[in-house]
Amino acid sequence: MASTPQVSGFASRLATSKDSVRPILISDRVYELLRQAIVEGDLAPNDRVVESEIARRLGVSQAPVREAVKQLAREGLLMHVPRRGHFVVEISTRDADYARQVREPLERLGATLAAACVTAEQLDELDALVAELHEAGRANDVGRFRDVDIAFHTRVVQIAGNPFLTRMWEVLEPNLRALRAIADPLFEGDWRAMADEHGRLVALLRAGDPATAADAFADHAAGRSPVPDRRVQRKPASSVT
Ligand SMILES: [Zn+2]
Repeated sequence: MASTPQVSGFASRLATSKDSVRPILISDRVYELLRQAIVEGDLAPNDRVVESEIARRLGVSQAPVREAVKQLAREGLLMHVPRRGHFVVEISTRDADYARQVREPLERLGATLAAACVTAEQLDELDALVAELHEAGRANDVGRFRDVDIAFHTRVVQIAGNPFLTRMWEVLEPNLRALRAIADPLFEGDWRAMADEHGRLVALLRAGDPATAADAFADHAAGRSPVPDRRVQRKPASSVT
């Protein structure tokens, strides 16, 4: 930066931002196009997503396409196969239902135990995770929202303090993530309300009423969350949870 000629104030800011703004906007646009193609089925499960081809068709360089593809992979919509590239993830709805079926009683037990033993520091930790969910929602960062959402539920299970429960969660969690039976990136509702919903779950743990907390966590895990998902009108129930 030392070699940059001195230009004052806003002009200087524009000059230094010039290179960073444009690629971000293009990669956002490519991300939206690809995401829509996956959601609407124009790209089918197991279809290969070839970055160079997309870049050529859109008349853009490969860098923003690579960025968009990376983001979709983080969200669980694309899968990276080493040396072969990125593919649209195929989700078995039956497996997702099975995984959700196991998630519900585990989260119910986790909340029951956690409500009885959670400490002030642990509640602060959960509050911080809820704040992160809000931040991710504001930034429209679905990948980050997913990561924090999953971290939230994992933390509650750890707080519950039963090592067998923790182990069972460790087995289930990667499957929940892969099957999108937790933190579904295709959720079409209000992300802010979904962050608030996690705040409500923390409040119930803070209140120390195991039965009420257990019901709320079970509803959340099973996709009976009070936060509406616009897809429910078009497809069977599903939720970001
Ligand atoms: Zn959740």
